[in-house]
Amino acid sequence: MRLLVTGGAGFIGSNFIHYVLKKYDDITLLNVDKLTYAANLASLADIQDDSRYTFIKLDITQTDDLRKLIDQYGITHIINFAAESHVDRSIEDASVFYHSNVQGVMSLLQILQKRPALRLLQVSTDEVYGDIPLAQCPVSESAPLAPSSPYAASKAAADLMVHAYCRTYDVNAVITRSANNYGPYQNVEKLIPKMISQALLKHPLPIYGTGENIRDWLFVLDNCRALDLVLRSGHSGDIYNIAAHEELTNNEIVSEICQLTHADKGLIQYVNDRPGHDLRYAIATDKINQQLGWRPTVTFSDAIKQTVVWYKNHLEWWTPLNQ
Ligand code: NAD
Repeated sequence: MRLLVTGGAGFIGSNFIHYVLKKYDDITLLNVDKLTYAANLASLADIQDDSRYTFIKLDITQTDDLRKLIDQYGITHIINFAAESHVDRSIEDASVFYHSNVQGVMSLLQILQKRPALRLLQVSTDEVYGDIPLAQCPVSESAPLAPSSPYAASKAAADLMVHAYCRTYDVNAVITRSANNYGPYQNVEKLIPKMISQALLKHPLPIYGTGENIRDWLFVLDNCRALDLVLRSGHSGDIYNIAAHEELTNNEIVSEICQLTHADKGLIQYVNDRPGHDLRYAIATDKINQQLGWRPTVTFSDAIKQTVVWYKNHLEWWTPLNQ
C-alpha cells in the first residue's frame, strides 16, 4: 500500500501513522498537512527518519499540487483527517471550516474522479447526526443528518459530497463516523486533555452548562484499528459508525480525571453553555461489528488511566500549547 495521510500532524492522524507503521512493513506513507495551530510535528519526531515515511506541508485545497504528489508517489489509498476540528472555533468563525472541511474534500473528490483504483477514506464524525433524542438512540448510518454546529455542518456537507461522487462518478470512497476520541497527542483545547492538563497544573476546571451533556468515548487506538479495517475492507460507497458505547456525562469524566490526578474537585467551575450544545450522541455500530468484525479492545476506565499517565509523562509536548 502507498498511503497518503492528510492532516497526519493532528491528533488522530499522528496516532494512525504510528499505528500503521508499526503494524505493516510493506507500506509507504506520505503525510500532507497544512500545519495549522492544531498540528504538532513533535508527535511524529520519532519516525521522521523512517525511510517509509515522508512529510510535505500543503493545504489539501491546492488540488493541482496534491494531484502531482499523488502521481509522483504512486498513491493507492488516501485517508483524510485534514480538517478544522474544534466546535467552539467554528462558532467564532466558520469560514475556515468551510475551506478545509468542504473545499478540501471537494479537492480530493476531483482527484479521485476517473481513478477507480485510488481509494479514499473520509474520516467523519457522529456529530453529523446532531442531538439524538433518547427514544431514537442509538442511530444507524441511515439516520438523517441534522448537524447543530458549523463544524458538524461542514462535515455533513463533505459526507454528502462523497456520497454524491460515489453515486454519480463511481469514485472509490468510504466514510467513517466515529464518536469522540481521546488518548495521546490530543490538543489541550479538547475536553479530556484540557481537564487533565488543568488538573495536573491545579488550575480551574471549566465545565459547560450543568455538565450533564453525554458523549460516547472512543480510545484513539481502537479508532485507528477500525479506520485501518474500513480503509482496506470497507465497501465503497458505504458509511461505518465507530463507537465503544462508553457513554459518560462531562461531570463523570471530570470527576474521574480529578481522582486520577489527585486534583481537588473544588477546582470545577461551571461556565456558560456553548450555543447549540448537543445533549447527547449515541450511534449504533452493528455494521462495523458484523461486516468487519471490529470491537473495541479497551474499556474507558483503563484507557483514561493510560491517557492521564501519557499527559503526566509528556509535559514538554503539551505545556507550550497551554500558554
Ligand atoms: P486535529 O485538529 O487534531 O488535526 C487536524 C489536522 O488537519 C491538523 O494537523 C491540521 O494542520 C490539518 N489540516 C487542517 N486543515 C488542513 C488543510 N486544509 N490541508 C491540510 N491539512 C489541514 O483533528 P483530529 O481530532 O485529529 O481529527 C481528525 C479528523 O477526524 C477530522 O476530520 C475530524 O473531523 C474527525 N473526527 C475527530 C474526532 C475527535 O474526537 N477528535 C471524532 C470524530 C471525527
